[in-house]
Amino acid sequence: MLRYLTEDVVFQEVPGEVSLAYTVTGCPLRCPSCHSADSWDPQGGRPLTPDFLIQRLKDYRGLVTCVLFFGGEWQPCALLALLAAAQRQGVHRCLYTGLDTVEPRLRRQLTFLKTGPWVRELGGLDSPTTNQRLIDLRTGAMLNHHFQGGHSHASTHTTPDQSETELHSGILARG
Ligand code: SF4
Repeated sequence: MLRYLTEDVVFQEVPGEVSLAYTVTGCPLRCPSCHSADSWDPQGGRPLTPDFLIQRLKDYRGLVTCVLFFGGEWQPCALLALLAAAQRQGVHRCLYTGLDTVEPRLRRQLTFLKTGPWVRELGGLDSPTTNQRLIDLRTGAMLNHHFQGGHSHASTHTTPDQSETELHSGILARG
């Protein structure tokens, strides 16, 4: 079973989508300068089950258009179950992975895929030298240009429990 450390509604990580985003715990890649090192412990956070996700999507019905997972590909069966649940709720699915690709059965359940590890010298999606790629899997189009050309590094997040919004820099570099 996968677990998550944070849940946020984000507006920039997937172009054109309002995404319910989960930072999944247990990433095994250990990128130097990882922005999410506090999520490396696979026992950290809270359970992220299909039933929980379905309930959250019902809570956010009409507000979010996409579910975004920061990681989780290291448990493909658990991630597939979450992706299938999201699909049944009628929202798009995006995965940010630090790998250069993911297995076909995951790609088939995804609408968007961000690939590539975080390399500080190359920068994230908002850097013209980045090694990372955000792809619309429906068309094969690369979407990096949405992040470049002077866009802010910051993202605005809200949760039902938060009356305020917070600026969270660096999230675009996540794996
Ligand atoms: S893939 Fe992302 S979460 Fe995993 S170690 Fe690298 S930057 Fe951190």
